[in-house]
Order: sequence, then C-alpha cells, then structure tokens
Amino acid sequence: LAYPIDEHRYINVMTIAGSDPSGGAGLQADLKTFASLYCYGMTTITALTAQNTCGVDGIYSLPASFVRQQLESVFSDINIDAIKIGMLEREEIIVEVAQFLEEKRAAAALPPLVVDPVIYAKSGDQIIDNNAINILKEKIIPFATLLTPNRQEACRLLGRDNIGLEDLEESAKELLKLGTKAVLIKGIHGRDCLLVREQENAVWIGETTDWIDSKNVHGTGCTYSAAITAFLGRGDPLVRAVQKAKIYITEAIRAGATYKQGHGAGPVCH
Ligand code: PLP
Repeated sequence: LAYPIDEHRYINVMTIAGSDPSGGAGLQADLKTFASLYCYGMTTITALTAQNTCGVDGIYSLPASFVRQQLESVFSDINIDAIKIGMLEREEIIVEVAQFLEEKRAAAALPPLVVDPVIYAKSGDQIIDNNAINILKEKIIPFATLLTPNRQEACRLLGRDNIGLEDLEESAKELLKLGTKAVLIKGIHGRDCLLVREQENAVWIGETTDWIDSKNVHGTGCTYSAAITAFLGRGDPLVRAVQKAKIYITEAIRAGATYKQGHGAGPVCH
C-alpha cells in the first residue's frame, strides 16, 4: 500500500514486540507497515506466539536478559528515530525494558515512543499476564509520547467494565495521569478515535471515514500504532502523525477486505 511521502529518506524505527507467525499482527505487521512507509524497521522480540487467523495457540516468552541484549546490540550501533512498544508479556520483561528506557532518557537519547498496550488478540485471547497490566501502567506508560489503547484495553487499564461514549474524554484524561503525554482511544464506533493531550482540546480523528465492512481486522491495532510511530519518527507533529496513520490503516483495511486468508480474521493489506 503506497502512501504519498514527500521525501524518500529512510528513517530508522524499532518495534519492541511479539511475533505472530501468521503474519497479520505483532512485529510482522509492524515491519510491513514500516516498509510501506519508507522506514528501516528493526525488531526487539519479546515473545513468540503460535497463532493463526482463528486464535492464539501458544506463547513462548523470551528471557528478559535476552530482550535487553537485543536492545543493547542495536542501539549501540544504530541511531533510532522512533520506537514502538507492543506486546510485553511478563513483569520481568517490562522491568528490563523500562530500565533501558530510563537509561536512554537519562542520556537525553529517548526518541518518540508509541506504546500500544497490547492485552488481547483480535480473537479475544488475552496475550499478557494479568500481573503485567499493572506493571505496564507503572513502569512503561510514563515514558510514552502516545498511548494507543482500544476501548477494551482502556477499560482494562482503568479497571472498568465499560466506557460509555460520554465517558471517553474523561477516561482518556484519567489515562493521561499515568504519565503519557497523549492518549489515543482507538476504534470508537469501530472507526473513529479520540486523541487527548495535556493542556489541549481533545481531537476526533477519522470522523468522516466511511465504514468498511471487513472481517480481516487481525493486526489493525499494531498497524495503526506502527504507522503513527513511522510518521512521528519522520518529524510530523502528533496530530498530523495520527491523522496520516489513520488514512494508512483505513486504506489497509479497505485493500484487505477481499482477502481470503485462513478461516478467521485475516490480515489487512499493506
Ligand atoms: N502483538 C502480537 C504478538 C499479537 O499476536 C497480537 C494479536 O494477535 C497483537 C499484538 C495485537 O493485535 P491487533 O493489532 O489485532 O490488536
């Protein structure tokens, strides 16, 4: 999926995420998005999953020390323009990644960071430890330039059963208190999103987007947050980065709507 980018200078982006061997979500979706948006994509793998379009069959978590080693190898060698964090499955890994981010921040070397608080796969399977959710709030979210929960993840982070439409803005402000600079609640009415920043008016993104009827939505959250990371790394201001990424994900869903891939929720098309 080509996106009109004015200059074709490559930038370097890193995703810290889990693997989806069926290629629809996780770091595979991130890499496809980065490549489409003229970014040189890199991966720090936190966990391997065994899954397909129907659901998640297994999770194999990497040792936290090895997650750290991957980060050190790459960051000691290559300049990174933006980071995305996806699936951080367990407390030890979260603590290790947080420690690394702290060191980068202390050295004034932390680039824009998008945190996608991955809790569930599209199949509904929970793919991180219950305990990890609280640690993520405490240790990772305070480093974020942008936090990108869907409505279900926002509920879980806030410990609520449901967030009504009338409560969205107030819920996003509640999430801001965790220390992130901005919050994007995705997938309201299945398509538009609400962006809330410190000291600024809330902004609706994609309100005029038409509804695309597709069962192929596996990896939409990953793709959207990866696209935002790519545009932030290129230097776009936050609102513009989110608007452009919204166009990217909408067109990726449209292009993938006729895919016949597997028996469940297939991927979007990059
Ligand atoms: N990260 C990994 C490794 C996954 O397996 C999944 C879902 O299966 C996700 C993230 C989140 O996927 P989505 O973009 O569909 O919310």
